[in-house]
Amino acid sequence: EPTQDHPLLRNLNGPQQEAVTHTEGPLLILAGAGSGKTTVITRRIAWLIEEAGVRPASILAMTFTNKAAGEMAERVQRLVSVPAEQLWVSTFHSFCTRILRREGDRTPVGRDFVIFDPSDQRSLVKQVLADLKLPEKQFHPKRVLELISDFKNRCLLPEEAVEEALDPWTRKALEAYKLYQAGLRSHKACDFDDLLLYTERFFREPAVQAAYADRFRYLLVDEYQDTNRAQYMLVQHLARTHKNLCVVGDEDQSIYGWRGADIRNILDFRRDFPEAVQIKLEQNYRSTQQILDAASTVIANNTQRLGKSLWTDLGLGEKLTFRLLDEGRLEAEYVVERIRHERFRFPDGRFAVLYRANWQSRQLEEALRAANMPYKLVGGVKFYERQEVKDLLAYLRLICNPFDLVSFRRSVNSPSRGVGATTLARIEAAIPEGGTALEGAAILLRKGELKGRAQREMGRYLDLFAAAAKEASSQGLAALVRWVLVESGYVRMLEEEGTLEAEGRMRNLEEFVSAAADAESLGLRLAEFLDRVTLASDTDELEEASLLSLMTVHCAKGLEFPVVFLVGMEEDVFPNRNAREAEDGVEEERRLFYVAITRAQAKLYLTAARRRRAMGQEVLGMPSRFLRELPEDALEAPIRWGTELYRAGQGTFGSTRPAAGGGGGSVASELNRIRGLFAQVRGEAPAGPGPAAAPDPEPVPPQPAPPGGTWPRGTRVRSPRFGRGVITAATGGGDMLTYTVRFSDGERRIVARFGMLERE
Ligand code: ATP
Ligand code: MG
Repeated sequence: EPTQDHPLLRNLNGPQQEAVTHTEGPLLILAGAGSGKTTVITRRIAWLIEEAGVRPASILAMTFTNKAAGEMAERVQRLVSVPAEQLWVSTFHSFCTRILRREGDRTPVGRDFVIFDPSDQRSLVKQVLADLKLPEKQFHPKRVLELISDFKNRCLLPEEAVEEALDPWTRKALEAYKLYQAGLRSHKACDFDDLLLYTERFFREPAVQAAYADRFRYLLVDEYQDTNRAQYMLVQHLARTHKNLCVVGDEDQSIYGWRGADIRNILDFRRDFPEAVQIKLEQNYRSTQQILDAASTVIANNTQRLGKSLWTDLGLGEKLTFRLLDEGRLEAEYVVERIRHERFRFPDGRFAVLYRANWQSRQLEEALRAANMPYKLVGGVKFYERQEVKDLLAYLRLICNPFDLVSFRRSVNSPSRGVGATTLARIEAAIPEGGTALEGAAILLRKGELKGRAQREMGRYLDLFAAAAKEASSQGLAALVRWVLVESGYVRMLEEEGTLEAEGRMRNLEEFVSAAADAESLGLRLAEFLDRVTLASDTDELEEASLLSLMTVHCAKGLEFPVVFLVGMEEDVFPNRNAREAEDGVEEERRLFYVAITRAQAKLYLTAARRRRAMGQEVLGMPSRFLRELPEDALEAPIRWGTELYRAGQGTFGSTRPAAGGGGGSVASELNRIRGLFAQVRGEAPAGPGPAAAPDPEPVPPQPAPPGGTWPRGTRVRSPRFGRGVITAATGGGDMLTYTVRFSDGERRIVARFGMLERE
């Protein structure tokens, strides 16, 4: 019989104890943030071993990230001494890898399979597309891979996905899926999703199922709300007979819908196990009352929830601080200043600065460096070390210094120009005495030694550098960077890819343009700007030990910090600008906001900027709708809404550019568009004043939709690259205006400022 005194139950409340000591039968713990779900899981593992006499190797605990799995294993080992290799505490993927390796030839993948990483996957799918003669322009490898991954997450092999392929594009892509699978087989390879897929299939066999159910008598799953269908099925197979399955989760923290997480899995649990015991945990041990109130009030706006209440006895605590700053740089500086201040109160506390999307780290990183404050970027790469940023930097460096061979090698094939290693070697061999690689390439080109695609593309590449000097001297820095992005074909490459990942990269590049605009306003020239960037990416050894973490909200799931800063509380940032399009989009963003708030233990800061640069141009932001949902009582000072909020701002809301075809007649060629961009930056554009030409415009109140220039849904358009289509949605405004267009081969998202769309 459990007693309070048992060391493993010490400090636990009644329902927590009940959960820890409930050893047999299905158990569902649905509870809000910070209520001790993860704590219960670890204590339960220890309890099973120590009190119920279960062999450690019979317990299987699963979670989502390596970090979480590592922490869980560590916590268990602190409670009971078990050799690490006996504990099956892991992520779903590493569990599956272990199973497939053990089972060797009983599964289609064999024992010695290799795991393909994203670049291996890409080369394979490219090969397949070429075999099928599917043009990459319409069937972008990454988009096809996205579709494949989506099918796999739903446990569908090609032949099982036939009914899902309703449109011609998907039918073709499905053929690619079939060949892609065959390709993996012939390489004796698995991709990441296959690990789950094949393990799930393997467990379907009754004999296997029985053997493994016997092997793993007790299953525990943390963050259950984020399981996808394949993970769900996998757990089902193992638990079906003995039903010793404990899942913990919070439907309000389901934030991976875009990756196939299926909230139905929680709801179905009770259908699959009608006898399940359900335990509610309602006491929150993490946050003070003010923080908890804010979180509860916000999430109450969601309709798709089971509903629950949370209380805390940690006291009322401090109110939330919201601060609206004039611009992004000041926002970052404000955060730095507050961190300094809070250090006095929490000298050893870990702090977190959270943001919605990776591009937002740039100004924070710069402000922290300027203040000499060490930080670590969790789950991400520092801004200036991101692949696309380094690619762009290679172009700029080469413009500055054509002798830079490293930058030549990097830029020449990003985007790909069909220049292989042999051609590259020939170019380098052709470099004249004391000359540059660009000259080497020009020589080969003139001699006619480059053929076909390489000839064409290298011609353009060299043109870029030939024109660059002039551009650099006649244009501002931001305009130059933007020009390079377009001329290099980089924007086009990302646009054609059309995946979420590509969009993230695009946002980073836009943020880079903004960095250039910042530098320009300080009067820096290209070379000086590059020097600054180089210094900014110089790595700091203190970082690992730093108490300050920067990360996305997604990355912060399950973690807690005494002080949390949540930056960028603006519409189209948080909620993200794609959210409005997706069904359930805003609700998922709100869950994300709930996750963010509930990371804070003692103090939560929220910040926003009135103006932010987008593609180097200043736009007025609108404060996030989520701020309105915060209870006024929980805030240090009420938020002043309406035009008042904008008095201090300048410029007009929603930027100024006539987006694709703003007034009907659209820009016909990319060249005109670039010229338009330049004119805009110089403040010459007739359509709307850029920042330079806007001495004191009337403040414009926030509006739900960008004014003017946006074509309505249903508009028939024509794209030089993708042909005819119909607009199905528009998001963002001005520079960020993005259309979703349905073409005959499927939907694409097209950034208006680059898409060259024409109205039919
Ligand atoms: P999330 O939903 O964010 O994943 P969670 O429900 O998993 O949160 P935990 O991380 O387990 O919550 O616990 C939150 C905090 O509360 C931790 O610091 C944990 O140590 C503490 N805690 C949990 N239960 C108790 C308790 N009974 N007494 C004191 N502290 C507790
Ligand atoms: Mg947890």
